[in-house]
Amino acid sequence: MSELQALFGGTFDPIHFGHLRPVEALAQQTGLQRVTLLPNNVPPHRPQPEASAAQRVDMLRCAIAGLPLFDIDTRELARDTPSWTVTTLEAWRAERGVAQPLGFIIGQDSLLSLASWHRWQDLLSLCHLLVCQRPGYATRFEAPEMQQWLNEHLAGDIRQLHQQPAGHIWLADTPLYNISATEIRRRRHQNLPCDDLLPPAVIDYIDREGLYRD
Ligand code: ATP
Repeated sequence: MSELQALFGGTFDPIHFGHLRPVEALAQQTGLQRVTLLPNNVPPHRPQPEASAAQRVDMLRCAIAGLPLFDIDTRELARDTPSWTVTTLEAWRAERGVAQPLGFIIGQDSLLSLASWHRWQDLLSLCHLLVCQRPGYATRFEAPEMQQWLNEHLAGDIRQLHQQPAGHIWLADTPLYNISATEIRRRRHQNLPCDDLLPPAVIDYIDREGLYRD
């Protein structure tokens, strides 16, 4: 059987330790061999990232240099439509087949807002959801029907993630990082240091490109 792989979508404006560290812990915990970072396209009618798509990818490259767990897939940037995860997962399945175990990694905040995602009910037919903890967010859904949906799909055992291609939710026991890209951009705009929030190679890139200045 093929090894469990995972996709990790985000705007990554910029990528930071709140993305990298929990995912590294998740991978160790679950035996994940490969995590593919999937930078989002942000459609024109939405608030735009401050960094360009090319800069966001460059920052991912800086961040993962020397980290063999990670690679990058830029397919969503090639579209000029919104990044619908379900569409990306369908394309991925068409390429890799239905049998490959696949996780889609999200933070707890994304889990809580999942019901607003396009065709969210189709997601578990395409992947497992691997959820990293994020400080400051509730550990339960407010809506009882969402909590019930979660309970019904919780994986009882890591082996289910490897033995089945999709269908389970794994609430990982990951370290808490109280970091957001918003906070990093805010600190940069105010000339405050961010040394402990993101990899030095990404900070160097931000400095070189003059990103997140006022
Ligand atoms: P912004 O502050 O610009 O909204 P962000 O820091 O939340 O950005 P995104 O690129 O939007 O980062 O997040 C991509 C994914 O990473 C989402 O699933 C989100 O839940 C998760 N994530 C982001 N930051 C953390 C964190 N500190 N801990 C756990 N998960 C996180």
